[in-house]
Amino acid sequence: MQSVAEILLGAVLYHKEREFLKRVFKKVVYNKNHMVTLPTSQAESFSIESFRCGNCDQDFQARVITWVDVSRAPQVRKTLLRWEFNNIQCTNCGCRHFSGTPFFYEDFEEGLLVAVFPRIPDERGTVEATIREKYGYYPVLEYFYDMTQIWTLLYLQEHYRANKNLRALSRIGKGEERLTLILRFLKEDPLMIDIREKLTETFFGDATEDDLVDLLSKAIYKLEQMLPWPLDRRCLCGADLSKEFKCCGQQIDLDEHEARLSPLYIIYCPLCEESLAGASCEACGRVYTWKLGTVETAAAGAPDCRRNQEAPRELQDGSRSLCP
Ligand SMILES: [Zn+2]
Ligand SMILES: [Zn+2]
Ligand SMILES: [Zn+2]
Repeated sequence: MQSVAEILLGAVLYHKEREFLKRVFKKVVYNKNHMVTLPTSQAESFSIESFRCGNCDQDFQARVITWVDVSRAPQVRKTLLRWEFNNIQCTNCGCRHFSGTPFFYEDFEEGLLVAVFPRIPDERGTVEATIREKYGYYPVLEYFYDMTQIWTLLYLQEHYRANKNLRALSRIGKGEERLTLILRFLKEDPLMIDIREKLTETFFGDATEDDLVDLLSKAIYKLEQMLPWPLDRRCLCGADLSKEFKCCGQQIDLDEHEARLSPLYIIYCPLCEESLAGASCEACGRVYTWKLGTVETAAAGAPDCRRNQEAPRELQDGSRSLCP
């Protein structure tokens, strides 16, 4: 039986010529720290693999993607977000399956290379070492052992791209700085377990898209180290937050919304119709959102308190305060 390391090395050897070109070329590009014209190599590499159909028990061959540069094949983002990436079809009974084949996900513009393993390989340490040896020159080299991680990465990137108010509120930087924080979140944050569960439930129709979106929003607020909204509109540093609540250069009046502020409440900018859910303090940069609930004063929702004490699951949604 072929080991995962062998399959992976097979895939690498299969595209040896191209990878070599890529390696030499990238070293030059990343060292000089600027982009030059890309050579006309393909944005995707494929491999023909054998599979056994779980439905009719017959063997069949199918083409799977083993390497994709998403900055030159942007449609792959959509395929991954729709769970259609590397789906294969049995030539005997027509049944569709997820191939489960490991692949390299490259984002040239971000300087990112991720080795994605839909299942954890047996010789994980050896596999990681082999990849590091070959591709260690990438500015960011990462390993994912769960399709949920690549899905969430794409979702978060897309969200930052599409939401200008989030970008305006954001204080975790951009480019590689933000990418590094997102990657840490994907690998370490316990919320990823909930996201994986919810994604599965949504896929099988056991949960609504809204449930999933709520959870993913929570991921963003956590990533951004945001704080629950203080009803006295005072930042921890004492500054007045209502002055910061604005969009399109105009201050928005909070009075009529005050009583309804909750994790499910959204205020829309009357001019651009973007959704607003909080404000950042101009004086100290702290960001507050009622998407994490509300507190009487900011001191009651201070970060120390939240860090040491995760609210129980059933409290996280409806509670007025994240702290007792
Ligand atoms: Zn079949
Ligand atoms: Zn606006
Ligand atoms: Zn402040």
